[in-house]
Amino acid sequence: QPELSGDFGTLMVWADGVRRLRVRANAETPLDARVAREFGAEGIGLCRTEHMFFDAARITAVRQMILAEDEKGRRIALEKLLPEQRADFIQLFEVMAGLPVTIRLLDPPLHEFLPHEESEFAEVAAAAGVDVDILKRRAAELHEFNPMLGHRGCRLGVTYPEIYEMQARAIFEAAVEVADKSGDAPIPEVMIPLVATRRELELMKVVVDKAAQAVFADKGRTIEYLVGTMIELPRAALMAGEIAEIGEFFSFGTNDLTQTTLGVSRDDAARFLTTYVERGIYAKDPFVSLDVEGVGQLIEIAAERGRAARPGIKLGICGEHGGDPASIAFCESIGLDYVSASPYRVPIARLAAAQAALRVQTHN
Ligand code: PEP
Ligand code: MG
Repeated sequence: QPELSGDFGTLMVWADGVRRLRVRANAETPLDARVAREFGAEGIGLCRTEHMFFDAARITAVRQMILAEDEKGRRIALEKLLPEQRADFIQLFEVMAGLPVTIRLLDPPLHEFLPHEESEFAEVAAAAGVDVDILKRRAAELHEFNPMLGHRGCRLGVTYPEIYEMQARAIFEAAVEVADKSGDAPIPEVMIPLVATRRELELMKVVVDKAAQAVFADKGRTIEYLVGTMIELPRAALMAGEIAEIGEFFSFGTNDLTQTTLGVSRDDAARFLTTYVERGIYAKDPFVSLDVEGVGQLIEIAAERGRAARPGIKLGICGEHGGDPASIAFCESIGLDYVSASPYRVPIARLAAAQAALRVQTHN
């Protein structure tokens, strides 16, 4: 670990001796995963699979899938994507060598996948064997005025379950392959995004469990895994008791939870939040440092209700706040199990977690 040698390395060892919170990283590429491990990450807390879908080599197949008019059309495109997804997860599992890896199923604002250029439509048309005009009509049908509150997250999985089925297959096929090759059996944690209700998670868990059973029967080997959910909508936080009857872990998506609780767009907030902080309306930018009073209250409620329904339920945070020292102190104070931060913030998170633990010890 060259980056963490010398006095800094020693400090990190001390910090690790003190902290209670586990520290994971948000990573989806093998490179990020490697950096995360060098910085001491103890797992991946969030692998955003939509980032894998933007890969130039597969975006046409992704667009073909999104623009397909029926399940059959989507399945044809998904067949092309399955081997690529499997390879993605094999690489991640290999780098993480048996550490937990939380893989979040597809959560794109749909418009990010729609073709815009004439040449992009032409590519999809050639791949799908469909007329360009049909694709354009379909793209117009899929247009949303407010995509961040639209057809994203598990809503996509509910309407097109075959997408999540393909991803779950890829996860379990990869896990079995890596387990067969090395001694370190991966422990995938399959995470469903943007859940608001128990029923959504229940439907999605059936899709994931079915895929797991099919792969295990096929390969003659089983792998331990968990199915859990992001808590990133106020309704999910309030209904956490019901949701925990299905979900085996919660990960707080504080980016969306801040956006939806404050009613402030995470993409446009910078325009006025500086003024808000200057005027003392918020003490700090709530997208950087957790709004402990408001958003934090929802997290506390969710943790409490989740634990009551499922004692010992694993709780983490994977929004940007997972790498912010003040927010980490809050996570310690309510006894979350881990924080997940971007790879380069992992050392800061380790220190902040230690500091927070010391503060709690001193107070007691
Ligand atoms: C979140 O909403 O906090 C989160 C981690 O998911 P994303 O940032 O990908 O929406
Ligand atoms: Mg989110």
